[in-house]
Amino acid sequence: MYYAAPVARLIGELTKLPGIGPKTAQRLAFHIIRTSREDAQNLSEAIAEVKDKIIYCSTCFNITDQDPCRLCSDQSRDRSIICVVEEPKDVVALERTRDFKGMYHVLQGAISPMEGIGPDDIRLKELLPRLQDGSVKEVILATDPNVEGEATAMYVARLVKPLGVKVTRIAHGLPVGGDLEYVDEVTLSRALEGRREM
Ligand SMILES: [Zn+2]
Repeated sequence: MYYAAPVARLIGELTKLPGIGPKTAQRLAFHIIRTSREDAQNLSEAIAEVKDKIIYCSTCFNITDQDPCRLCSDQSRDRSIICVVEEPKDVVALERTRDFKGMYHVLQGAISPMEGIGPDDIRLKELLPRLQDGSVKEVILATDPNVEGEATAMYVARLVKPLGVKVTRIAHGLPVGGDLEYVDEVTLSRALEGRREM
């Protein structure tokens, strides 16, 4: 009731974003009101464009605007190694290290019995067909170093090892309880180098 209806609507939509409380939503809304029509238009078009154009790669399940994605289509990458991560942002973090030249598999989550997320709720079964033809020699488990990430790594290892594929887990030195995306490039690079077989 303090705001005109369009302002209340904008604040309501912004409040739905992660990490945005009512105060921040109000600040962002007032910023958008003050900004030029062009900037506001660009923002709304950018949002519409990702919703129109961004899909999941049918091979690795990373976000992409082409299928297969650029990483899966890149013939210079090493197809004998697949690095399994939880989220698209983890691919970005690993690509930033410039050390990893293999392929990825994005689970789009982690197994979390506490939150009722089981193996069938993530893109795990989609990994197995990628290992069938024997061309993949190693699967690197680069899930987050927290309880869910460890549980997921162990589950994937149990599934993949019987296929005769070497399974490694990235080394720690990574902060436990942490999130891969916030790890600096050097630490992540070393963790990748120091991976151990599971
Ligand atoms: Zn892909």
